[in-house]
Amino acid sequence: MSDQRTVLVLNSGSSSVKFQLVQPDTGTSVAHGIVERIGDDNASAALVLGGRDWGRETPIADHEAALRTVFELFDEAGARLDEQGLMAVGHRVVHGGQDLYRPTVVDDALLATITELSPLAPLHNPPAVLGITTAQKVLPDVPHVAVFDTAFFHDLPPAAATYAISRDVAREWKIRRYGFHGTSHQYVSERAAEFLNVPLQSLNQIVLHLGNGASASAIVGGRPVDTSMGLTPMEGLVMGTRSGDIDPGVVMYLWRTAQMSVEDIETMLNRSSGVQGLGGATDFRELHRQIDAGSEDAGLAYDVYIHRLRKYIGAYLALLGTVDVLTFTAGVGENDAAVRRDALSGLAPLGIELDEHLNDSPARGPRIISADRSPTTVLVIPTNEELAIARACVDALT
Ligand code: ADP
Repeated sequence: MSDQRTVLVLNSGSSSVKFQLVQPDTGTSVAHGIVERIGDDNASAALVLGGRDWGRETPIADHEAALRTVFELFDEAGARLDEQGLMAVGHRVVHGGQDLYRPTVVDDALLATITELSPLAPLHNPPAVLGITTAQKVLPDVPHVAVFDTAFFHDLPPAAATYAISRDVAREWKIRRYGFHGTSHQYVSERAAEFLNVPLQSLNQIVLHLGNGASASAIVGGRPVDTSMGLTPMEGLVMGTRSGDIDPGVVMYLWRTAQMSVEDIETMLNRSSGVQGLGGATDFRELHRQIDAGSEDAGLAYDVYIHRLRKYIGAYLALLGTVDVLTFTAGVGENDAAVRRDALSGLAPLGIELDEHLNDSPARGPRIISADRSPTTVLVIPTNEELAIARACVDALT
């Protein structure tokens, strides 16, 4: 048993739970894993601890069974969870609405409010509530803390947060641009300043979080001034399976003329759009393989993805005037040199110039990939939402 305190960070989806055991003080990830296909006969649970893997393929009936399976895997690995100095469980909650933005110790009132916000995030908040109540049942002796993905964008300037729709309708239905991936945008922008050893307050930054979900933010002195996601995580960049920006007329047309139900339209925009919808693959490694094999669909999917990304970079350049740091993060941003190159090609006259050699390097940690002469420093910084959530739990409890 280590004498370091730990936080178990949970990210609960409708049929999956991702977990990570983190030491908030050292930043060390002790263990991580995922339970997938909960409710199915072919569910699986996996734990990585001390460089080794433990796994199970077994029916897992529900979220409670999922967490109990995770504990069994910890036991199998010889690292009982109750001997890991567990001080809190941190829960990633996607939508905090207008009022929930501080990391908050969970109580019944908080759970009720997160549940009330479910219409704003029907795919995300209900599983988060289920994840929290289940974890409370299974781990009753430690505090549970909710950390909201919308929190960082709570104070977005009104001009960026407001949709130009009827003021009364927006007020009544709490419609505004909330922004998501906030934990990542905050963590990465703070790490960028640390890495460059300059005060956060002095920097104009663009952060491009390009994972399965993708979002961009413009940040001045550590505070966001715009972000690409809106009322829901569907707005903005083209993503793995989500469309990003779309004319709302498309929704009305599909509903009225194609007679698709609202649920079917939502499912299409969330799950079978983006690069998946256009190119038939969500994973950029597969997308590149298909492009290399001559797939025109995959080529168009990639082009649409890059086109949208460049539009947002351009918009944020105009918003910020000067950009000191532009950072790529998350699965695609950290690993896909071609995306980074194509997103920034030809921008030298605007002050952004990559160093091709640095960009192509397979290095993994935080790194500079811009040319020395580039006025904007371009970075790759691996995001670490779990560590940020673990640290937010410590803050909430002290
Ligand atoms: P999320 O947390 O949103 O599920 P991630 O940030 O883990 O997503 O990103 C996952 C995506 O990253 C994958 O779907 C894939 O497109 C991309 N990715 C991961 N590794 C690589 C790689 N080596 N090259 C290109 N893309 C990659």
